[in-house]
Amino acid sequence: ERLRDNLAQARSEADVDHLTRLPNRRAFERRLAAAVIEARGNGTPLTIAFCDVDHFKKVNDRHGHAAGDRVLCALAASFAEMAGDACFTARHGGEEFLLLFAGIGKDAAKARLDAIRRALGARMLMNRDTGQPFGKITFSGGVAEVTVDGDARAALARADAALYAAKQQGRNRIELG
Ligand code: GH3
Ligand code: MG
Ligand code: MG
Repeated sequence: ERLRDNLAQARSEADVDHLTRLPNRRAFERRLAAAVIEARGNGTPLTIAFCDVDHFKKVNDRHGHAAGDRVLCALAASFAEMAGDACFTARHGGEEFLLLFAGIGKDAAKARLDAIRRALGARMLMNRDTGQPFGKITFSGGVAEVTVDGDARAALARADAALYAAKQQGRNRIELG
C-alpha cells in the first residue's frame, strides 16, 4: 500500500511546478488534450492564453533571485485565484503562465485577463526582506480560441504570436490571436 501511495504521489508531483505549486506545462498539455475532446463533443468554446510578466529580469536584477521567486509565487497565486473556477492555470516555465478557459470564448477570456491585469497593476508588492517596493508589476498576454477542427497546437501558436504582439505594442496589454 505504501508503494502504491508513493507511486501516486510521485505521479502527482510530476504534474506540479516546484516553485509555485501550480500545475506545470506537462499537466497543462494533458488537460488541454482532454479539454479539446470535451469542447468538440459539447460544441462549446475553448480558449488558451499565454501570459508573460513584463520586464521580470529587472525584478531579479534589482531585488535578487530569491525575491524574484517570491514575486513569481505571488503572481501564480493571483492568476489562479482571479481566473476563476472555469479556468485552469499552469506555469509554462520561467515567468510565463498558461491559462485554459473551458466554455469561454476569446473575447470573454480577454475581458477576464484585462480585469486580472488591472487588479494586479493596482497592487503594490513589497520586498519583505528590504521593505522596498517591487514597483508596479504588469504582464502581457496573448489569447486564442481553439477552432472547431480542434487544432490546439495552432491555437497555442496564435496565442504565442499575440503575446509577442502585445510586447511589441508596449506591454501591459492583452492581444487576440
Ligand atoms: P519582457 O517584458 O520582454 O518579457 O522582459 P523580461 O525581462 O520579463 O523577459 P526576459 O525573457 O528577458 O527575462 C525573463 C527573466 O525571468 C529572466 C530570468 O532570470 C527570470 N526568471 C525565469 N524563471 C525564473 C525563476 O524561476 N525565478 C526567478 N527569480 N527568475 C526567473
Ligand atoms: Mg518570458
Ligand atoms: Mg517577461
